[in-house]
Amino acid sequence: LFAQSAPLLDIYKNKCGTLVVFNDITKLKEFELQRKEFVANVSHELRTPLTAIQGFSETLIEFPDLAQEKRAYFIDVIHTHSIRLESIIENLLSLSKIEKETEIDEIDFINESITLAISNAIFLCKDKALKRNIKIILHNKEEIKFKHNSALIEQAIINLLNNAIKYSNGNSEITITVMKQNNDIKISVADQGSGIPEEHLTRLFERFYRVDKARSRQLGGTGLGLSIVKHIALAHKGTVTVSSEINKGSVFSLILPLKY
Ligand code: ADP
Repeated sequence: LFAQSAPLLDIYKNKCGTLVVFNDITKLKEFELQRKEFVANVSHELRTPLTAIQGFSETLIEFPDLAQEKRAYFIDVIHTHSIRLESIIENLLSLSKIEKETEIDEIDFINESITLAISNAIFLCKDKALKRNIKIILHNKEEIKFKHNSALIEQAIINLLNNAIKYSNGNSEITITVMKQNNDIKISVADQGSGIPEEHLTRLFERFYRVDKARSRQLGGTGLGLSIVKHIALAHKGTVTVSSEINKGSVFSLILPLKY
């Protein structure tokens, strides 16, 4: 707690007292801590690919006579890390854009079918799924119309689908279910992948949080995908939930109010 005091001479001329105002700065401190942690995380995440790019390009400059095979390998590493840098920056930009829109609370909501956003997401993710022989099934019994930002919903489904594909083995199914639940619309993405240990479930939506950092990096992950999904849900005054069982699979659900 932070206390401010001021003499009260002017109010009661004959009496002298002290006004003590208590401001609870616990939340502020927490926010400041989170901000510092975020900046440290961003710096660390950006530094890793940057160091690789610098190191490998300097070697290429210093040793122009390197064997062709080695040169090709170094160039490939530089290329991979530059793509990684691009994904991190793109994800950070979308995150900050979504957060800003939430603050303004004036997203350009349109009243159109959710099916289009989901179909687009499936179309965009299909290529990756085919490489792993994963079948994507859509259960959408009724046409549900509600106010939403189509581009953001598409982005959220893409992120969930991409994860479902990434963390599944070959020959499995991913099911997207869309249904009404009380006054909400529930969009679930269920996979038959690796599952997530229970102790990680509550932290999954934090920026840069990953169960297995090495695996996520190897699969091209930035650790920001679920955090983006969470902010898209919040922008629609909704939530995102997860349930999971090791070696059986995970279900991520976007639950958004039908009336915004
Ligand atoms: P990433 O870019 O690492 O995939 P995300 O924010 O999208 O970052 O996800 C955070 C972490 O949650 C992942 O690194 C992974 O450990 C775990 N995860 C997310 N989705 C799934 C899933 N469908 N199955 C298993 N683990 C998942």
